[in-house]
Amino acid sequence: MRNGRHKTVVVAGGAGFLGSHLCDALLAEGMQVLCLDSFLTGRRQNIQHLARDPRFDVVESDVCDPMPAAVARARPDAVFNLACAASPPHYQANPEHTLLTCVLGTRHLLRLAEDAGARFLQASTSEVYGDPEMHPQREDYRGCVSPTGPRACYDEGKRAAETLAFDYARAGRADVRVARIFNTYGPRMRADDGRVVSNVVSQALAGEDITLYGDGRQTRSFCYVDDLIAGLLRLGAEDVRPPGPVNLGNPEELRVAALVQRVLALTGSPSKVVQRPLPVDDPQRRRPDIALARALLDWQPRTDLDSGLRATIAWFERDLCWQQAVRPPANDDGVQEAPLMLGLRGAR
Ligand code: UDP
Repeated sequence: MRNGRHKTVVVAGGAGFLGSHLCDALLAEGMQVLCLDSFLTGRRQNIQHLARDPRFDVVESDVCDPMPAAVARARPDAVFNLACAASPPHYQANPEHTLLTCVLGTRHLLRLAEDAGARFLQASTSEVYGDPEMHPQREDYRGCVSPTGPRACYDEGKRAAETLAFDYARAGRADVRVARIFNTYGPRMRADDGRVVSNVVSQALAGEDITLYGDGRQTRSFCYVDDLIAGLLRLGAEDVRPPGPVNLGNPEELRVAALVQRVLALTGSPSKVVQRPLPVDDPQRRRPDIALARALLDWQPRTDLDSGLRATIAWFERDLCWQQAVRPPANDDGVQEAPLMLGLRGAR
């Protein structure tokens, strides 16, 4: 509470995968939440359960456009900027808009924070490291990014957004926090997102071929969404301003081929794995160094890969309307030991 009222937080991109989980978490902490979303990649169904919450409001607007009066009037205490398409097929569909969302959108939200005297948290990304030569990636590594390739609209856009945020901070215009978010997965990812977890889980559940790009030896480190949101909240709440950006992600690194095998084992899917060409500029290795987040925020991920994947698979099953699948009985711990896919497999 501030001056007898709930603190107000603007979440730009609040109807997206991460943004909607952040709205949930902020409401649970007693905040008033104003979700600003263009609904280009965000989805109404991600926030429909909040529709009757008197502390939750939605404004439909693109952050590239001038700030709607309702948002400016809210005089927020904090602004979280998660507004940008984040999966390669989505951000590459309109690269000019992606770059402008990062630069112009961030400027609009920084000005909102400046005018209101609000704290500003920028959702940046491990993509600022590009195809990294330093492993694992520490915040002081400056990255290896192609400025002209197909990923550049997002990677360079996010780098420019960081530049702008720290220029505002240096000039004393806004109280800035920057989180560099590594690959995150969980419920509310879009099945058509094009990301490896959403693709593989939905393909496995449908019994379709699993698309493995390249030989699958490239690595990623996957963080479960609840852990990531806990880190964002801590970073947003920390009064001691970190010296620069802070990595948030799970340092458990694995090959993409190994991730595919875990999903196949947990779903019991009969899907075949088929290789597809590795996309241009696809990073070979990625793993966060989270020493800074551990020290500054006393934060680290708690969810192991199998638990996170089980929760994600269960959610995708519901989202994809596979309720008819015959589920095996749970054991005493409520854990499903047998594959989730028996019904579908039998129907093939
Ligand atoms: N990938 C894959 N099959 C898919 C989608 C992605 O093998 O259906 C690979 C992709 O080439 C990359 C890794 O999985 O090496 C992670 O891709 P994602 O798009 O999820 O994240 P990002 O590349 O942005 O880290």
